Amino acid sequence: EKDLARTAFVKGVKGLLSIVIDGDRNIAVRLWTPDGGCRDIGRVTSIGSKVQFLKGLSLDTADNSVLDRQARLFGSFFNDAVGQLRIGVVGAGATGSAVAALLIRLGVGHILVIDKDVLELSNLNRVHGARLSDVKEELTKVDNIARMATETDLGPKVVTMQSWAGSKDSRDALKSCDVVFGATDDHSGRIFLNRLAHFYGIPLIDLGLRMKRHEDGHVDVFGRVTTFVEGHRCLMCYGVMDSQKAADEALERDDPDSFHKLKEEAYVLGGGDPSPAVVTFTTEVACMAVNEFVAALTSFQGPHGMTPHRVRRFHAQDDRFPIPSLNPDCPVCGQTDVLGRADVEPFLRVVG
Ligand SMILES: [Zn+2]
Repeated sequence: EKDLARTAFVKGVKGLLSIVIDGDRNIAVRLWTPDGGCRDIGRVTSIGSKVQFLKGLSLDTADNSVLDRQARLFGSFFNDAVGQLRIGVVGAGATGSAVAALLIRLGVGHILVIDKDVLELSNLNRVHGARLSDVKEELTKVDNIARMATETDLGPKVVTMQSWAGSKDSRDALKSCDVVFGATDDHSGRIFLNRLAHFYGIPLIDLGLRMKRHEDGHVDVFGRVTTFVEGHRCLMCYGVMDSQKAADEALERDDPDSFHKLKEEAYVLGGGDPSPAVVTFTTEVACMAVNEFVAALTSFQGPHGMTPHRVRRFHAQDDRFPIPSLNPDCPVCGQTDVLGRADVEPFLRVVG
């Protein structure tokens, strides 16, 4: 390896990462630097519809009574794994707060929460942990999650960022996550997370709901969980994002004056009547999403791990698993040259 590294640097390579796997599947990973030095990479995970530790999962031999009951189902490795993973939750509203509450109870050790909004009165019917007094005090949604984690006293490290998903400030934090939950209702945030998952090989578990009351009084309630990892199709292929709405959201955020002017002229979407939301449905979809995370670490759903796409039709009492036709021209998952490519200029190959 040392000779190989020297040759590589002589040929002008800027860095070398070596991976050596022996017949017993022992693995060594080293990062070589131009000065001839090397650094051991302590933790190696295999990422796909299953998330597996190949190296570096430290086993906690201490008695953990709090998480004993779930270890009885999945084995103690499960508690060790969730304790050492870094999980991002983007969006801290109805579904995001429920996802965070579940991750805290599962024993996840490190949670990053990103949301730019403060709590409003109309959120209290579905945001877990939120109080009436928080609205007066203009508590941020991320601080609500941090407080929830502190009050359980179960020890997760929670990092919060009051920003929107795609902001420059949150990039490095998101890049350091092992798994990211997309619990945002903004389309531009979803488009960003979709690209981030593809470029950085970070499993994305995205969730969403659509509820509608028809004029005759009957209701439709759709809940959706989509998991995007190598081998699965991306959110764009499933058509869960609207690029026109994303463009309108970006305009509203970056140039509110123009947005409102265009809105008056009915050239942009958004605003209008708020969509309906009921806590039982939002929380159930959060459970569906966190169960995909559990499936990535265990085999409870079978050896395939996470399900690519599940739509729960609450009103029809069924689950559907639609698969879109293959699109090799997809601007995200069709670009195989950037799969797992990590840092590129410009970031995520998005100009501007
Ligand atoms: Zn795609």
